[in-house]
Amino acid sequence: MRKNIVAGNWKMNTTLPEGLALAKEVNDAVMACRPNCDVIICVPFTHLASIDHVIDSTKLGLGAENCADHKSGAYTGEVSAAMVASTGAKYVILGHSERRQYYGEVSAILRDKVALALENGLTPIFCIGEVLEEREAGKQNEVVKSQLVEGLFNLSKDEFAKIIIAYEPVWAIGTGKTATADQAEEIHAFIRSAIAEKYGKEIAENTSILYGGSCKPSNAAELFAKPNVDGGLIGGASLKCEDFMGIVKAF
Ligand code: PEP
Repeated sequence: MRKNIVAGNWKMNTTLPEGLALAKEVNDAVMACRPNCDVIICVPFTHLASIDHVIDSTKLGLGAENCADHKSGAYTGEVSAAMVASTGAKYVILGHSERRQYYGEVSAILRDKVALALENGLTPIFCIGEVLEEREAGKQNEVVKSQLVEGLFNLSKDEFAKIIIAYEPVWAIGTGKTATADQAEEIHAFIRSAIAEKYGKEIAENTSILYGGSCKPSNAAELFAKPNVDGGLIGGASLKCEDFMGIVKAF
């Protein structure tokens, strides 16, 4: 059966001391509440190794927010999947809309990143989602399908089985506008059917599909109650332990 997951995306927030304090707080809260879902924090590269030392990674997963599309070498400023894995991190967010929009990460780049992440034993949390104009034009299914086809459907069945999908409507990220639970359910069901068409029903049923976009303690329970919503990728609300745990406890 697929896992329920709540994953935080800290983005470019917190200094190292602040990040360490937040990670310890989340770790203690997770240990105290024994959640009904897997809990992951995805943090800046600079924090990974230090945070890995202060959390119990059997209870709280650790991930990066990106990795390079090359193995190693003369790519100044880049951080490879092998480097991420060497910190103890087990997950990596790939294809976040901010990376697609601000850093030109097109599908060809994302395919390379996914391949390198998998080669290094990292689980990709692969983000897909439409922008507002696409939603208004009723093109959301078409958009997410092409992001899946172009970014992931080159993978073998065994490889795809390791992927976590995050559906994040771009118009809902950081805007306070959440997709309704019905809107989320409808497109998550569509995503699952597209996966089933390509990889078969069993793999589709076992794939965790997270919702992301202004998810907070007040709306998480309604979203997570939908059969095809297997948890959330949480931006802003993952920066406050109380809010993040409020979402975790929605399961
Ligand atoms: C995100 O960036 O992945 C996200 C979901 O952000 P927020 O929760 O702040 O909308």
